[in-house]
Amino acid sequence: MNKALLVVDYTVDFVAIDGALTCGEPGIALEDYIVQLTEDFLKQQQPVFVINDLHEKDDPYHPENALFPPHNIRGTAGRNLYGKMNDLYKAHKQKIIGLDKTRYSAFAGTDLDIQLRARGITEIHLTGVCTDICILHTAVDAYNKGYKIIIHQGGVASFNPAGHNWALSQQ
Ligand code: ZN
Repeated sequence: MNKALLVVDYTVDFVAIDGALTCGEPGIALEDYIVQLTEDFLKQQQPVFVINDLHEKDDPYHPENALFPPHNIRGTAGRNLYGKMNDLYKAHKQKIIGLDKTRYSAFAGTDLDIQLRARGITEIHLTGVCTDICILHTAVDAYNKGYKIIIHQGGVASFNPAGHNWALSQQ
């Protein structure tokens, strides 16, 4: 079984207390779990993908404008990975595959599917935020593309507890 770890939107803007669109404490609480899981995958020589929102400042065409405050704007510190995950990423930049996305799903407009297939990956492990938005949309796309999906309950969070629980109940 070839597996890959996906860490979605675990950035300063989505996780730090003063982030632009933050999950706050539930997001911060994932830090050690995601770091440990990333280290495990790296140790097993299994691919780790870090996939983060990339938005342009004052983009008049983006549908999220009407829904959320500006976040993960190109060139801002808000796009950096949060906490120890940022340190780990910097230390393993050659190994960890970084992708930018502009929509909720990590598959939308990215070459994630091509990269996974090139490595013969059939099982994806999902972590990051938010459970009921980007994780859910990524999981739906992965399901429709035929991947086996493992959503790590200790590795996902949302700013909306009801949404978090509902999304996890869809597995
Ligand atoms: Zn966004």
